[in-house]
Amino acid sequence: MSAAQDRVPTVVIAGGGVAALEAALALESMGRGRVRTVLLTSSDEYVMRAAAVREPFTFPAAHRYPIADVLGGTATWIRENLAAVDPAAKVVTTHTGSRLDYDRLIIASGARASATHPHAITIDDRRLDELLHGMIQDIEADAIHRVAYVAPERAAWPLPLYELALMTAERASDMGAELDTLLATPEDQPLEVFGAAASKGIRGLLISHHVELHTSSYAEVPSQREIVLLPGQRRYSVDRVIALPELYGPEIPGLEHDAEGFLPVDEFCRVDGAAHVYAAGDCANQSIKHGGVAAQMAVTAARAIAADFCDEVKAAPLDLELRGLLHTGLGARYLSAHRVGGHPYDSRFSTTPLWDPPAKVSTAFLGERLGQLAHASGRH
Ligand SMILES: Cc1cc2nc3c(=O)[nH]c(=O)nc-3n(C[C@H](O)[C@H](O)[C@H](O)COP(=O)(O)OP(=O)(O)OC[C@H]3O[C@@H](n4cnc5c(N)ncnc54)[C@H](O)[C@@H]3O)c2cc1C
Repeated sequence: MSAAQDRVPTVVIAGGGVAALEAALALESMGRGRVRTVLLTSSDEYVMRAAAVREPFTFPAAHRYPIADVLGGTATWIRENLAAVDPAAKVVTTHTGSRLDYDRLIIASGARASATHPHAITIDDRRLDELLHGMIQDIEADAIHRVAYVAPERAAWPLPLYELALMTAERASDMGAELDTLLATPEDQPLEVFGAAASKGIRGLLISHHVELHTSSYAEVPSQREIVLLPGQRRYSVDRVIALPELYGPEIPGLEHDAEGFLPVDEFCRVDGAAHVYAAGDCANQSIKHGGVAAQMAVTAARAIAADFCDEVKAAPLDLELRGLLHTGLGARYLSAHRVGGHPYDSRFSTTPLWDPPAKVSTAFLGERLGQLAHASGRH
């Protein structure tokens, strides 16, 4: 065998979130030692971002896991960020200017969140407790009486707005405080990506929590104390407005991107116009920004790459199953749907888990690894 044939191909993964770590663990499992994985990120820790929604309601902070522990021996970790890609030369450049060769590349660097309403409190999972705790205290003290939650027109994380609205309303009711909670969304049905049964279930929950729902509505926020819902110029006086940010893609030099900066991918998560480059998670141009989707994209990309080097592995296109665990303040609800051709089917809504283990962010590999780490540290 020649030296070239002997060489173990290198897969570089850029990112430190659910998509990147799921890809690294999937490659360890599917690559059967026939690929070498390098993780490129300056992030030190993996944080389960979805867990942040409960922090303002005096639940413990989301767990943080050192990247080195999550990786174990799975991948070599380079503590630098990706800055640019040269797909023709199969080289990435890091933010310090170092160059790194790859045989396959997975971009999993997430989306950029941008506030659209300067007068609103924009949800930022890195400091959600700091942003919302004061408001919750004012509600408990009966000092504010009308709160609006608004979703942007474009790509955003779908679940947390509903969770925060429901938990806020529940907390007010629990404390005997008077509060009107309003939720405005451009969706035609609440959480419509999960399909009809889930939307019906959510609608019922919003009614039982006395959350006033405005679908097919775009919010303008002319001041801290007012929102205007379009169409129809419906004006509401409020005490606080909480908004989801809009998401934008990473716009990586050397790679194609759409008008919002997201990387266009096919059903195998291959980036358009760049051979041997894949993208998974919020950085890609799939319309649903969700941790479970990020994980499934990561596995799809890892499988396609493993198939190039291992005869026994076959590539398979993305077959999306959406799973959402919704915190309501009165127990969890479980939502799921398959997605085919951009449409949900087999929509389900339940008070009991629809998947096992019933993780908030459903993954094939990462959840198990985090479970092992939690067990080892006695934190389970
Ligand atoms: C409050 C909130 C609640 C949510 N609830 C849920 C939920 O219940 N269920 C669910 O499934 N999803 C939920 N989501 C969505 C989910 O968190 C995201 O879809 C998911 O985190 C996307 O994963 P990702 O790996 O693509 O990106 P990210 O999680 O954004 O991770 C990107 C990583 O890459 C790193 N990085 C950035 N730039 C570079 C670079 N140039 N080079 C290398 N590394 C880089 C970042 O530091 C980060 O570590 C929620 C999101 C929020 C904010």
